[in-house]
Amino acid sequence: MTRPTETPEYDVVVIGAGFSGLYATYRLAQAGYSVHAFEAADGVGGVWTWNNYPGARTDSLHETYQFSFDRDFASSWRYSDIHPTQPEVLDYLNTFADHFSLRDLYSFDTRVEQAAFDADAGRWNFTTDTGETARAKYFVTGLGLVSAPLFLNTPGFEKFTGRVVHTSRWPAEGIDFVGKKVAVIGTGSSGVQVAPAIVDDVAELTVFQRTPNWCPPTGHRPVSDDEHVSIVEDFDGLWSRVRQHPAGWPWNPTGRNVLDADPDERERIFEECWTRGGFSMLFETFDDVNVVKEANDLLCDFAARKVRAIVQDPAVAESLIPDHPYGAKRPPASDGYLEMFNRENVRLVDVRRTPIARYSESGIDTTEESFDFDIVVLATGFDAVTGAFTRMDIRGLGDESLADRWNAEGPKTFLGLGVHGFPNMLMVAGPQSPFSNLPPGAQAAGEWITNALKHFESEGIEAFHPAQEAQEAWNDHVQEIALGGLTAYGKDANSWAVGANIEGKPRVYNVYYAGFKAYADRCDEEAAAGYTNFVRARTAERVG
Ligand code: NAP
Repeated sequence: MTRPTETPEYDVVVIGAGFSGLYATYRLAQAGYSVHAFEAADGVGGVWTWNNYPGARTDSLHETYQFSFDRDFASSWRYSDIHPTQPEVLDYLNTFADHFSLRDLYSFDTRVEQAAFDADAGRWNFTTDTGETARAKYFVTGLGLVSAPLFLNTPGFEKFTGRVVHTSRWPAEGIDFVGKKVAVIGTGSSGVQVAPAIVDDVAELTVFQRTPNWCPPTGHRPVSDDEHVSIVEDFDGLWSRVRQHPAGWPWNPTGRNVLDADPDERERIFEECWTRGGFSMLFETFDDVNVVKEANDLLCDFAARKVRAIVQDPAVAESLIPDHPYGAKRPPASDGYLEMFNRENVRLVDVRRTPIARYSESGIDTTEESFDFDIVVLATGFDAVTGAFTRMDIRGLGDESLADRWNAEGPKTFLGLGVHGFPNMLMVAGPQSPFSNLPPGAQAAGEWITNALKHFESEGIEAFHPAQEAQEAWNDHVQEIALGGLTAYGKDANSWAVGANIEGKPRVYNVYYAGFKAYADRCDEEAAAGYTNFVRARTAERVG
């Protein structure tokens, strides 16, 4: 690639201004690198900018949905609810960016179209949709796991005269649902949040469901003053629990198994955790529910009884009960989602029985029925984990396209941090890293990447990438772990973590399921051993 003379050169180019990109930008700049970052949105926030639909908030816990590296900054921040809302998370990320003066390092409203490695020069060249270009020795991605929206290819779309909106591309001015006939397609985390948030306004609501999900209550409540004080006082304990927890949350193992519990104790604990809401059923009930199918069956039996007790129409209740293990696919929490099916004006359409056939001028036709809609809400999720990479033109050694490779065989990475054949490219929350509470993972990856760059530079290394064998071994391990657990059922449940939500996408496990602790330990081990699984070269063209 020829380099336009005006192209500025940096040590590092980062893409993304969500948790992942922001922390990497901060850390690398703080380590003395010249950093420039690109972000397609008009400001800081990543997915929290785009997903501003009614009801959007995280199921993660407030006290650890932030970075911990700066104790004073962390202690000064306080979310108001135990599960922060979208505006509050956006506020946190903006406050973080301002506090650490990160904004000036970004080109906002700028989408990187191509990132190509020039092996002769040992530099990455970037082109963007605004015409801005950049060049850098290192390329760090903070693209997000669930950031490339999935729009359906439903025939007849152009005929439909109503409005169609995707939850992750919500208009800033909002949408007036009052008195409207509305469809919500999709019943994942976004669908079960948006539907109850608009149900009071609509004239009629029709929910199109493909795979039912286990959907516990949220357990939302305000964070009390006392709670905030004890979080600040127990700062070290809190973050040490996060480091030990499989999902990066501040919870200890329960130390009990449901298969050893008597029925009364089992019922009492399930009931308590169901009411507590969020991920409590998975992590605060019994330790074996996540790993032993018979234990998980007891959890499912309890949750199914809850659905039958809440939803009055027995046929609708049965349609809402999943047939996959609890946790095989991410269980989304919602208040009012199950309850709303008791309203006269709310209907559930099971598209496994009656698939969506086409849009008509006035709505949607299934294989059996025609529906009229003013507004169709696509809560259809994402081309998850890989989509943000494969929708960009990333080229490594020999001009190889990352998209071509991953579209054909699924992603293979080393520790979710690097890809063989793509020198000096490092990923935060890349494919095959754990699916866990994001901020601690993003912070750990930002640290690891910065330390790796410093290490290679201290050895006089110009270019490095994971060895092919190391990448194969990590991929084998990722697949083996997933297949050895309840996550193996994710393929049948259309889990996005297996690419199974998209027809034609390779069905491979795209996230690492042994958990945050096991992963962080493995990353530390690699660093302590001197990054021995990386091929390295003193001149970039020899790294291949
Ligand atoms: P999702 O979990 O992938 O849900 C998408 C929904 O659309 C699913 O019900 C899916 O059905 C359905 N769908 C997809 N293609 C379809 C088709 N062709 N026909 C009919 N239905 C179709 O996406 P999401 O709800 O946006 O959430 C994605 C992830 O973002 C979550 O898992 C979570 O990690 C994150 N998120 C978190 C929160 C939170 O913390 N509360 C909120 C929103 C998002 P299938 O299940 O059959 O594929």
